[in-house]
Order: sequence, then C-alpha cells, then structure tokens
Amino acid sequence: MERMDLELTEVCRGVYQLRLPIPFEDGHVNCFLLPRRGGVLDMIDCGMGSEESFALIRAAIREVGGPRGRLGRLVVTHIHPDHYGGAGEMTEREGAELYLHRLEVPMVHPRYLEIEQLVEEVGRYLELHGVPEEDVDFLKNASRHFRKFVRPARPRLQLDGTEVLELGERRLRVEWTPGHSPGHVCLFDLGSGILFAGDHLLPELTPNIGLHPQSTPNPLDDYLAGLRRVAELRPAMVLPAHGAAFTAVTARVADLVRHHERRKAQIEAIVGDGELDAWRVAVAVWGRRENLHDMRMALQEGLAHLQSLSFEGRLEKRATPAGITWRRR
Ligand SMILES: [Zn+2]
Repeated sequence: MERMDLELTEVCRGVYQLRLPIPFEDGHVNCFLLPRRGGVLDMIDCGMGSEESFALIRAAIREVGGPRGRLGRLVVTHIHPDHYGGAGEMTEREGAELYLHRLEVPMVHPRYLEIEQLVEEVGRYLELHGVPEEDVDFLKNASRHFRKFVRPARPRLQLDGTEVLELGERRLRVEWTPGHSPGHVCLFDLGSGILFAGDHLLPELTPNIGLHPQSTPNPLDDYLAGLRRVAELRPAMVLPAHGAAFTAVTARVADLVRHHERRKAQIEAIVGDGELDAWRVAVAVWGRRENLHDMRMALQEGLAHLQSLSFEGRLEKRATPAGITWRRR
C-alpha cells in the first residue's frame, strides 16, 4: 500500500481533526478524535470502508492515544459512505461503541445489504417522475457501487436527538438536523460552543438535499428549519465534515437559505403556466449531465424544491400511478 501522509491537527484543545481520503466531493472527509484519560479516544464519523482509511485511523489512534490507544464511543452523523463506511471495522476490530440516530438505522439494510428491493423502488420512483425509459435502468443502479465502501455495523445506542453525550473531556448535545439525511445529527459542545456539523453546514459545498424513497417527505423545509436552529445556538466555531473550520455562521446560514429560496423561485418560473414532471424541471435547471449519477442527484434535488413549493401552496402536485406532475395553483 502506498504510504499516505497522516493529516492530523489539534483544531482546539482536546479535539483532533483527521482528514481521510474519499473518492468524491472535495476528496476528503474530516473525522474527529476526542481523547479521554487513559488512552481511550472517542470519535465522530469514521470515513469510508477502505484499507487506506483504516491504516490512517490506526496511525492517528497511536499518535493521540499512545501505544495503548483505543477507541471508545463512535458517533456517526449519518450513514453516507464517507461518514459511516468504516463503522464495521471500527466496532469489530477497534472495539468502538457505535451511536447512531434511529432514523438512520432502518436505511442501512436496504441500502447496503439487501439492495434489490430498494433498487426496484427507486426505479419505479424515477418512472413516476418522468425519467425516460432508456435511462431508468442505469439511474436506478447509480448508487450500487457505493456498497463496496461500506461495512455496516449495528449501533449500541440509538439516538433521538437532545441527548447529552460525554465525548473526550467534553459534553456534547445531539442536535437532530434532518434534510441531507433523515437522521442526520450535529453535536454541540455545551461548554465551548463548538458545533460538529457533519454535512449539515459546510463552508463551501451545498449539501445535496433530495426527495427520494428513503428521505423525509419534505426534506428541504426540514433542512432549512435545522439550519435556523443551529444558527440560534450561536456556535463559537463550526467543525464541518468537508472543508475548514469557520466562525461566520450567521452569514453562511443566510447564504444557504438564500440559495434555496432563489432555486425555488427559479423552479416556479420554469413551471410557469405549464405542467411539468420533475425530470423536465431538473433538465431545465441543471442541463443534461454526462454523469447519470449527477443527473439522479439533480432530479432528487429538484424534487425537494418542488415539494417545498407544494407545501407552501405555490405549486400543485398532481399524482396518479401513471405519473406525477407540477403546475401553478
Ligand atoms: Zn452526506
């Protein structure tokens, strides 16, 4: 194996950020190690299931916890491969105790273990939303390859939100922030005001918010409500899962809210006086992408905005088993 450099930084007292490689987004995910006394380290997110990633985690455990360093609690913000993929390895080999929000738990089996039923459901869903017949087959299989980056694990503790957890020398409150994933959680340090934000609040990327068979029924409004809630916490600093730590929380939240408001207005204008399915809306907003996986993400993202417009009463959603379309009310 090629030797990778260990990118480990003490971002604030008793919190070590470990950057691990991933094959998508900006190429890295940030995980966090919080040492307790006696060489035990608690961890937030654990990267993908790859040997390269495991070797870096082991090196970091030794570096921070000493030769007898070992993992204690592992809180995973959500079950996407770059945050949860290493969970099986961390619990079985490293003895970590996994904590996971309960809305993430039922998604694991259909997504990573027996996936055929979900693939069929997604196929049906794509047809309903106007995806051309010749693309449905490819699109419904677009996330099949993610499975190889994930070794699932069962949680020792399922979270509802609002729990106060002792991680490292800190007391962190679980903030349930659905939207990017139904059981996404952030962790808020009650002492120092640091927010471990997962994918909820990122300095540069806009997390994908999609309506799909496993999402909450109105993920965009859930997401925006969660953004306002974390802004009200007035975090002193945000430690995101992608990108660098930042402090200008109010401004970043305002940017993200504005981005989604503009997108909704754009989609409302595209629908205009016509009646469109979500596929045609997605093609109008994002164009036809070469990469069909991107196209599926675009469809789901477009659907999240359409659904929010429909909840607000700005669009009417017409549904029959033959298809779903949207028009002005
Ligand atoms: Zn994610």
